[in-house]
Amino acid sequence: MYQDYKLYLQDELFHIEEAGLSKKERIIVSPQGALIKVIGGKEVINFCANNYLGLSNDSRLIEAAKNALDTRGFGMSSVRFICGTQDLHKKLEASIAKFFGTEDTILYAACFDANGGVFEPLLSEKDAIISDALNHASIIDGVRLCKAQRYRYANADMKDLENQLIAAQAQRFRLIVTDGVFSMDGNVAPLDKIYELAEKYHAMVMVDESHSAGVVGKTGRGVTERFNLRGKIEILTGTLGKAFGGAIGGFTTGKKEIIDLLRQRSRPYLFSNSIPPMVAAAGIRMFEIMNETNDLQDKLHKNTAYFVERMIAAGFDIKPTESAICAVMLYDARLSQEMATRLLDEGIYVTGFYYPVVPKGQARIRVQISAAHETAHLDKCITAFTKVARELAIIK
Ligand SMILES: *Cc1c(COP(=O)(O)O)cnc(C)c1O
Repeated sequence: MYQDYKLYLQDELFHIEEAGLSKKERIIVSPQGALIKVIGGKEVINFCANNYLGLSNDSRLIEAAKNALDTRGFGMSSVRFICGTQDLHKKLEASIAKFFGTEDTILYAACFDANGGVFEPLLSEKDAIISDALNHASIIDGVRLCKAQRYRYANADMKDLENQLIAAQAQRFRLIVTDGVFSMDGNVAPLDKIYELAEKYHAMVMVDESHSAGVVGKTGRGVTERFNLRGKIEILTGTLGKAFGGAIGGFTTGKKEIIDLLRQRSRPYLFSNSIPPMVAAAGIRMFEIMNETNDLQDKLHKNTAYFVERMIAAGFDIKPTESAICAVMLYDARLSQEMATRLLDEGIYVTGFYYPVVPKGQARIRVQISAAHETAHLDKCITAFTKVARELAIIK
């Protein structure tokens, strides 16, 4: 059989390559940070990690992880409910709930699992899920696993959401689900309006805070802080793999009864391993740091404003952003690739995105700002963008 199947796979791979859609991995030989060393020894300034608060290589988190490694061992070799729950897991869950102003939290190996395991236990074919068209792949997959009726609204389009809510009135319970920040544009979901519509049409709300937690809101508490809705949203999901240290781990946090039921029925929780003690310990330390000071969030917000302002002044077309994601619009797939390659030659590591990752004719370079960046890094990036864009006749 495999001889035939192999030919089929080779053909598939050829078409991916031919369409220019093949994803290549660049090998990094240093810790994650503002400056990274790539294989061959070249040092570049990194503008494409989700390391928003610069915590991926933070000495305080490393120390907490090392300490847990010494005192609690390497791994749990169990799911949570059999023999995989340490005090560290409970403490981290409490820290997350405190951070978001929610009632309880359940940990997962990743946010992909949190989203994969949230819908199916909570909703049935009698219910409705109303989902933003640009929601993350893990939400889409999670919704697929659930028997609820599916409705979809255009990205952040409140008129369309209202229409879908009207259509969903026949169902028993309704859940609106949205990303907090959409990763391609950096726009924030209009949670104030979503919440109003949820009230009006008798629905609950779920927000995936993966790109917004630690970033959005004055103190980085996410979109519920930004829109003054702390404690009001039924379900939040998020990751420990982006702003919160960047290692691994995801969570669902929100209303107590929802979390209670997920602990009983959520399949990625019941049938997948506990996160390692060192990851839990570093997470606890990370939330302590967040409670002690707002320095990292302040620096991130300052950096983002600085970068966006100067890029616009330099003549670039930047998508309106309320996050640490800055989409530099080029509208041409080939150009976005060419530009990213030339920027790398200048020591600036960014990624070009084009169809099918973004709509046709919407090619861009996504720049992700971090609290780890110093003003000199941002200046170098702006200078390199300006130089390359002039060479490519993108700006004057
Ligand atoms: C990154 C991301 C995830 C996945 O998080 P992991 O913890 O890496 O699995 C889920 N949802 C959104 C919106 C994301 O951006």
